[in-house]
Amino acid sequence: MARRKKIYEGKAKTLYEGPEPGTIVQYFKDDATAFNAEKKDVIEGKGVLNNILSEYFMQGLGQIGVPTHFLKRLNMREQLVRSCEIIPLEVIVRNYAAGSMSKRLGIDEGTQLPRPIVEYCYKDDSLGDPLVSEEHIAAFGWASQQDMDDILSLALRVNDFMSGVMFGVGIRLVDFKIEIGRVYDGDFQRLVVADEISPDSCRLWDIESGQKLDKDVFRRDLGSLTDAYSEVARRLGVMPNNPPAPSKPTLVN
Ligand code: 5GP
Repeated sequence: MARRKKIYEGKAKTLYEGPEPGTIVQYFKDDATAFNAEKKDVIEGKGVLNNILSEYFMQGLGQIGVPTHFLKRLNMREQLVRSCEIIPLEVIVRNYAAGSMSKRLGIDEGTQLPRPIVEYCYKDDSLGDPLVSEEHIAAFGWASQQDMDDILSLALRVNDFMSGVMFGVGIRLVDFKIEIGRVYDGDFQRLVVADEISPDSCRLWDIESGQKLDKDVFRRDLGSLTDAYSEVARRLGVMPNNPPAPSKPTLVN
């Protein structure tokens, strides 16, 4: 069988040419990185969990009419997506202060924001994905004014959907990052939610205990990342049949 063609290898995913023109196979790796890849590890099972969780969120978004690049999950680590031109922005939506916003503005982590705040970062690892304004985006031609209106509307719809889904299983959606892609239907371009939506790209806190169930567990050495992501999958009812092994043996009396 012919080897398939690798298109791009990122920190957490590898993209291969898909079986049909205009499709891509997105392979979820177990690699975890933080702080612009200064901190690295391989977390067994992370790729499987993110593949399944991203499928769950993207499918749900599709069902409420939010367009995404997702076509179907192929196996435990791969999904088929529509190929799209990624807009070089990280679109961040925040409901509670945390992470870089808390640091930048001196607001305590966990403070509820008066309304969801949308931020844009320029996607460039060598620069550390700097925060940019709509002025930069327009001046450098990264997206048009119409694109920006559509991106804001997509981001807020994703926020409402994700906040509701997570609230339903006792989890607070503190913030998240999405990426947006352009797809072309003939002469028309449409914007879709692309990349992935998973605990790698969201902050998820248990509503009762405040326990972190997202990548901050890895960034801040708070315990087992697999256990945290498994908990999210378990609550959403999408835990795979052969789940990644728990981090520690469980003692049975
Ligand atoms: P912060 O700006 O506070 O570091 O991140 C805000 C939110 O966006 C967090 O949920 C964080 O996980 C997500 N985020 C920001 N930058 C990246 C990134 O480069 N990769 C991923 N996976 N998520 C990011």
